[in-house]
Amino acid sequence: MSHTTASLEVFREEIRAFLAAELPARLREKTRQFLPLERQDYVSLHRLLDTRGWAAPGWPREYGGPGWSAEQRLVFEEELGAAGAPRLYPHVNMIGPVLQKFGTPDQKARFLPPMPRLDEIWCQGYSEPGAGSDLASLSTRCERRDEHYVVTGQKIWTSYAHWADWMFCLVRTRAGGKPQEGISFLLIDMRSPGVRVRRIPTINGASDLNEVFLDEVRVPLDGLVHKENEGWTVAKYLLGFERTGGSSIATCRLLLERLLSITASGPAGGTQLMENDVLRARIARAAVRLRVQEQALACVLAGDVAPELHGIEISALKLHGSELVQELSTLLMHCAGPAGMLCLPDAGEHGDGAGDAGLELESPELRALGANYLDWRKTTIYGGTTEVQKNLIARALLG
Ligand SMILES: Cc1cc2nc3c(=O)[nH]c(=O)nc-3n(C[C@H](O)[C@H](O)[C@H](O)COP(=O)(O)OP(=O)(O)OC[C@H]3O[C@@H](n4cnc5c(N)ncnc54)[C@H](O)[C@@H]3O)c2cc1C
Repeated sequence: MSHTTASLEVFREEIRAFLAAELPARLREKTRQFLPLERQDYVSLHRLLDTRGWAAPGWPREYGGPGWSAEQRLVFEEELGAAGAPRLYPHVNMIGPVLQKFGTPDQKARFLPPMPRLDEIWCQGYSEPGAGSDLASLSTRCERRDEHYVVTGQKIWTSYAHWADWMFCLVRTRAGGKPQEGISFLLIDMRSPGVRVRRIPTINGASDLNEVFLDEVRVPLDGLVHKENEGWTVAKYLLGFERTGGSSIATCRLLLERLLSITASGPAGGTQLMENDVLRARIARAAVRLRVQEQALACVLAGDVAPELHGIEISALKLHGSELVQELSTLLMHCAGPAGMLCLPDAGEHGDGAGDAGLELESPELRALGANYLDWRKTTIYGGTTEVQKNLIARALLG
């Protein structure tokens, strides 16, 4: 559906007014400061948006979504970012579309309705200690015994597993042959006997990552999505949704806004940072790259992609977005001066930590900056590493 500029502006105004009136200040503040979000933060956001039917913006009406066009989704994302809302919980737009396409009628009826409100939280069990970029080599074993699949193995880097009620999980149901052809896609209840979750501490001190140990976990046969040994098709379909989320536009906008605010106040010893030609050029280049990324996402969402780029547009978005986050956060660290060197993982929740270091932060804008700089190293790893995206792009373009 295409919209007139005027109708899109009415749409934008409706979202802007709602968020201005209803988005809790605490959520706004956490997002602006890039502070870690709790499970309850995501739940509050989704429940708030659900009051208007907006909690799963990519879903069609048939499954309880708003059925928005690409243009409307873009406007919605822009307004969420501008209002200081955190990003939506990512798995809604991963397992949601997968079940809509591959789920049985029972799976759709059971799992889709509670998903937008986050009545149930999901996690993604793909990576294993011996299978990351080379995901098809995964070895978590799954055998069919009577009315159950029995799963034994280990997953790693599982974001939010410590909160999760359910995990969508790749398991090996057939050994030998082409590795991709022996994988199945299962839905595992995280309260099942034999599931154990262990947190992984990370460099920023506020980890969402976990190991998940699966020891003879029994999964009813109706937990299989699509067909046995054909889970690779499902896994790849889901990854497309994961990487569109990797365009990182809202994060880049916030980082750029923060950067411009710091350079305007000149915290590094009072010098006017914007008088530095090299720095000014780098910031300008980053701002232009952000505009390019916004345009590219609009084209991808609208399906307006040149035929020779089909299949790699998502990789290009992910690659560019993740590198831009790192460039902007690096620029922020440069501009912040010595205060940027502080690692403040729990800033805002239990004080800003600067007192302990005997330093005074010159600006509240700088709180948690160091922890975030470290945290953003992850963007070029998750959802497929930079090297892997470049391989995919090179293979498609160069043959
Ligand atoms: C913050 C974060 C959250 C994550 N959340 C989840 C999650 O919820 N669920 C989940 O299943 N996984 C998750 N992951 C795991 C993520 O998908 C993997 O880390 C990623 O796929 C890379 O795999 P790996 O860590 O095993 O690295 P490896 O695959 O071992 O790669 C190591 C290095 O080798 C390079 N490399 C590998 N293969 C090639 C190649 N063919 N050509 C060139 N270079 C190559 C890589 O680019 C990388 O630099 C998360 C990761 C992070 C950092």
